[in-house]
Amino acid sequence: MTRKLFVGGNFKMNGDLEQLTKLVHQFNEADVDVESAEVVIAPPALYILPLKELARKGISVAAQNAHQLPAGAYTGEISLQQLKDIGLNWVILGHSERRTIFHESDELVAEKTAAALKANIQVIFCIGETLEEREGNKTEEVVTRQTEALAKVIGEDDWKHIVVAYEPVWAIGTGKVATPEVAQDTHKMIRNFLAKRVSQKVANDTRIIYGGSVAGKNAQELCNQPDIDGALVGGASLKPEFVDIIRAAE
Ligand code: PGA
Repeated sequence: MTRKLFVGGNFKMNGDLEQLTKLVHQFNEADVDVESAEVVIAPPALYILPLKELARKGISVAAQNAHQLPAGAYTGEISLQQLKDIGLNWVILGHSERRTIFHESDELVAEKTAAALKANIQVIFCIGETLEEREGNKTEEVVTRQTEALAKVIGEDDWKHIVVAYEPVWAIGTGKVATPEVAQDTHKMIRNFLAKRVSQKVANDTRIIYGGSVAGKNAQELCNQPDIDGALVGGASLKPEFVDIIRAAE
């Protein structure tokens, strides 16, 4: 099976209604082939509904996080069931900002991911090492540990609803993009881990996308690597440049 390219735009806690509406209008009008690349944008929760109404067919909307429980006294949280209720089919989980700033553990991210799949929501499952971990030669240990936590709680069949986003923390928002070779090496290692830990089929079919300072000028070279199936884009997704990245991935 060929893996359909995937380009995600993570707006994080940026933009206001006027700016983001204008941005989505620009994406809607751009001449991109949404048949060859799957495009998903993740606005701040508050803007999910209006932007979902606005985004054209072929551009899906994701949440940036969710709570693992269906309902309850969790002030400020949003459940996966609520996301599903408004018609959402995607959520980003385990972003490094959630893991580091909000102290989400490997187990919690895995639990949230399993809960999302139960709620029929597909997951952009983020993993990646910090600079210190890379310099200490711990990249493999970290990304396999993060992936293992998920492999423990979901079944082989569930992987078709997961896109793995490999995002080295040192490359996020820093302008220091991993070279295509460094990214490819880690993607291959993740794929090999899936083959060993889950199955060869899951390894072959699961999309593994790269994130961390992806821009119009480096997207093509990254996406040309055999084990890189697209990109998760932060800063550049807030600009018309996002369209160039989608084109590069096509
Ligand atoms: P960046 O962010 O593209 O701004 O580096 C990527 C991400 O956090 O997903």
